Amino acid sequence: MRYSTVVTGVFLLLGFTSVFGEESDATKLLKARSEQLRPQITRVSESVYCATGYSPANISMIVGQDGVAIVDTGMFPKHAEAVLDEFRKIADLPVAGIILTHGHGDHTGGTSVFVEAGGKQSKPRIYGREPFNTEGVAFRAAGITINRLRGARQGGFLLPPEKRINNGIAPAVYPPKDQNVFAGGSVTPTERFSEGRKKIEVAGLKLELVAAPGETSDQLYVWFPAERVVFTGDNFYRSWPNLYPIRGTGYRDVRKWIHSLDMMLAEKPIHAVPGHTLPLIGEEETTEVLTNYRDAIEYVFNATIAGVNKGLAPNELVHQVKLPPELASKDYLREFYGNVEWGVRAIFSGTMGWFDGNPTHLFSLPPAEEAKRIASLAGGVKQLATRARQALDEGDAQWCAQLCDHLIALDPKARDPKLLKAVALEILADQLLTATGRNYYLTVAQELRRDASQ
Ligand SMILES: [Zn+2]
Repeated sequence: MRYSTVVTGVFLLLGFTSVFGEESDATKLLKARSEQLRPQITRVSESVYCATGYSPANISMIVGQDGVAIVDTGMFPKHAEAVLDEFRKIADLPVAGIILTHGHGDHTGGTSVFVEAGGKQSKPRIYGREPFNTEGVAFRAAGITINRLRGARQGGFLLPPEKRINNGIAPAVYPPKDQNVFAGGSVTPTERFSEGRKKIEVAGLKLELVAAPGETSDQLYVWFPAERVVFTGDNFYRSWPNLYPIRGTGYRDVRKWIHSLDMMLAEKPIHAVPGHTLPLIGEEETTEVLTNYRDAIEYVFNATIAGVNKGLAPNELVHQVKLPPELASKDYLREFYGNVEWGVRAIFSGTMGWFDGNPTHLFSLPPAEEAKRIASLAGGVKQLATRARQALDEGDAQWCAQLCDHLIALDPKARDPKLLKAVALEILADQLLTATGRNYYLTVAQELRRDASQ
């Protein structure tokens, strides 16, 4: 979904500097989000505390008799240290156990800090699912490295602070130089399980770890029956879920994701601690939000498959599959982080593979060949460039970017189409609520400007 914007005075000076007038609704909405992403600790129940906003992912503590259990450890050690300081003001007890809901770096990077905060006699056990950090392992096994650059674009790590608002479900942070944020923490689980439910005891606390594939296949949720709190990992946070991250990944099994939410709901939780964003407090809110979240994902899945069965291609499906207004209007289902269109595409490719069903696309022309023919239709390269600029003047930044792609394919060294595309991407960024896409647009715009200046 895009938000309409009033772009007043887009000046295409020599060098195509863009000057934005009034902020778009999307920009305003994303800015308003920052308030709930500031550092704060929520007392969720008698013994459960959740630190939000200190790190991109939440870090939680459950206070036991003679120690505490930690759920997820944040992205960087400095975040973990700040949270540990705050937690110690609440309960100055050794860390008796650490649970990692999955292997992503934003949930595991601070593990060493909490290991150090264990008792003098014994190091805390670290619990996680096998195969741990499946996404990272799969990339490494295949020899894929581009995910780092794409991840940095999606995360906004290459943008100056003034171009960042927040990451939709997380505050904007920068990794320390040379740190590979996607590697995950160097400290990994010492106690692993793969399927079903594992009951553990940490500092007298009875906890249940439940296999819950969804956002990743190594995902688990933590169930704390004594206070009926569920720690959802990244199968829930307050945003339309990232069924597909544009940094690239294998298929996130949407049906399993729905099933994992069903299992959490079946526990009848009173409170829910998400992987990011503020906890859900009270049975009414928790049940309603998790149910709507689950239903929204199922709706999109079913609508996509219904379209697939009619023979629709992804480019058609994304314009047909929309969340019903009563779900789309919920704050926790807005596209702050994930985007419904990208989810639809992921469901298509995850179930059907790359071929959209149209034989024209079995052997498409290479981009430069198609560009030649488009330029000829336009009456020449010059006219094509004029049309691209006109598209921008008419407020059609998407079409402008598409025409620029032809111009760049025709002459990869030409400076003007890159600068024009950069402006188009910056406008598209301003119109988009989804922080990951926004970061990606702005980073590529920055790359194009740099390219053009060389
Ligand atoms: Zn996360």
